[in-house]
Amino acid sequence: MTFPDIAVLRMRYLRGPNVWTYRPVIEAWVDLGTLEDYPSNTLPGFVERLTTWLPGMIEHRCGVGERGGFFERLQSGTWCGHIMEHVAIELQTLAGMQVGFGKARETSQRGVYRWSSAPAKKKWAAPVSWPPATWSWPPSTTPLST
Ligand SMILES: [Zn+2]
Repeated sequence: MTFPDIAVLRMRYLRGPNVWTYRPVIEAWVDLGTLEDYPSNTLPGFVERLTTWLPGMIEHRCGVGERGGFFERLQSGTWCGHIMEHVAIELQTLAGMQVGFGKARETSQRGVYRWSSAPAKKKWAAPVSWPPATWSWPPSTTPLST
């Protein structure tokens, strides 16, 4: 499977109160293209590769409300617009930010999602060691496209 038609439509920093929250956020609009027809549980090996690449996402509670919640959502099937939100949060966390907010929403256009994330505090946390001990690049599994 290949998905050559994914497009980042817009990415911006919203400095003050906005449609997402009262805090500044990073907002992105993404067109998934044909990937819209493939939730996470339909992509062979995707969930395993993503959770291996970013194991810290086990802490993401997501809509489930408990540790491992996002991993449950991946296993049961969620859309890549939502996954992009969580990957952004995790990468920000690995960069030393304490991210305390994230949301993803569909738009009125099929396959187009917007997501946002925001740090929990105005100041960044102390940087974490990089790369984390459990992280490797590239992931040692097969690529997504087959
Ligand atoms: Zn979520």
